[in-house]
Amino acid sequence: MSITNSSLPRAGSLSVEQARQLILQHTQALSGSQQLPVRNALDRILAEDLISPINVPACANSAMDGYAFVSADLPSHPELTLAGTALAGQPWQGQLLPGQAIRIMTGAILPAPCDSVIPQEQAVLKDERTLDMRHIPVRPGQHVRLCGEDLAAGSVAISSGKRLGPAELGLLASLGLAEIAVRRRLRIAIFSTGDELRSLGQVLETGCVYDSNRYTLYGMLTRLGVDIIDLGLVPDDPVALEQALLTASDQADAIITSGGVSVGEADYTKDIMAKLGEVAFWSINMRPGRPLAFGHITSGGKNTLLFGLPGNPVAVMVSFYFFVRPALLALAGAQAMNLPVLRAVASCTIPKRTGRTEFQRGICSNNLQGQLEVRITGQQGSGILSSMSEANCMVILKPEQGTVTPGDTVEILFFDGFI
Ligand code: AMP
Ligand code: MG
Repeated sequence: MSITNSSLPRAGSLSVEQARQLILQHTQALSGSQQLPVRNALDRILAEDLISPINVPACANSAMDGYAFVSADLPSHPELTLAGTALAGQPWQGQLLPGQAIRIMTGAILPAPCDSVIPQEQAVLKDERTLDMRHIPVRPGQHVRLCGEDLAAGSVAISSGKRLGPAELGLLASLGLAEIAVRRRLRIAIFSTGDELRSLGQVLETGCVYDSNRYTLYGMLTRLGVDIIDLGLVPDDPVALEQALLTASDQADAIITSGGVSVGEADYTKDIMAKLGEVAFWSINMRPGRPLAFGHITSGGKNTLLFGLPGNPVAVMVSFYFFVRPALLALAGAQAMNLPVLRAVASCTIPKRTGRTEFQRGICSNNLQGQLEVRITGQQGSGILSSMSEANCMVILKPEQGTVTPGDTVEILFFDGFI
């Protein structure tokens, strides 16, 4: 699992893409599923391919209120005689003869051998029982919903690993399914490290800060639908840290810590990870979030993934979204959910050093020309959490990119759906 130094880019750091690949290589979906009623399955991950037990729609039916007929009849019968009416839920029971049509409502079964429908707005009635089709263009098959055109019996209606959203709940109901098998929820242990950290309710002595990372992590993990095991604050003490990691690994499928992964004197996380397991990498060529120790610890015969995130609050969020989120989705058995990277015109200068990826917090909107336009939030320091709150997107600047000037095009990722 470890990487030799010779395969590392400059200064021992991986590129963002290398780190993402490596994390995914070491992340296999966990087993375990449960059966849930449809409503409770919202946002859960489908455990196996769902094969449609029926055709939806079950029969060909009309997509409009109008008249149903046989298109091949028209050359010989330009006038059609109305033989009856079909309503949704009340099929017409008669036998259609050549030259006949029936009145039909949306959703009513299309009686054989009818193949087309003319909407009532276009219909010309010569008298109460006679439809004049002479001047009406007809495309055979028009305004008809075919049997199985939405979902065909025996085909895959929803594929394994799909996160079930509102459309999928409706789809399940349209198939008549009251329950569905979903993957079990992940259990993720989190704790913060740092002697300077204080919990809410404690007095903030000089030099201390309130622990905010466990709250952003709580929010991000809750949105992902995992069960959180919050192990609180752990001091910068190797013995306490080792104990916390062992406890976490006993209880959780993966561990996320923050702080203590840099090169300072009180940064012990990666040393203990190496002692208890293996460090795959600990540095990524990016800003914010350069130190990120990824690997696993082994305890009780089981390996537990460990994401040692940096301490700075913005770095925690950025590393979570770009590295931890895809890994947890893979661990949960979900299909990759990559959101579209869009292109926007910079409306301000964005200072940037070449040689590393930068994730800057941006505010994006449509300009008067209808283009996406982005500016960055004022302060971009990795401790400035308000920049995340102010922003609505991340501006992604690749290593080769230098300072961006107004008018340049940059890549952005909207927070919506991501966070
Ligand atoms: P570290 O990565 O441990 O060197 O921490 C980097 C910076 O992030 C320091 O200024 C820490 O005080 C701060 N920090 C670390 N953990 C947290 C936390 N849980 N909440 C808020 N700030 C933190
Ligand atoms: Mg620290």
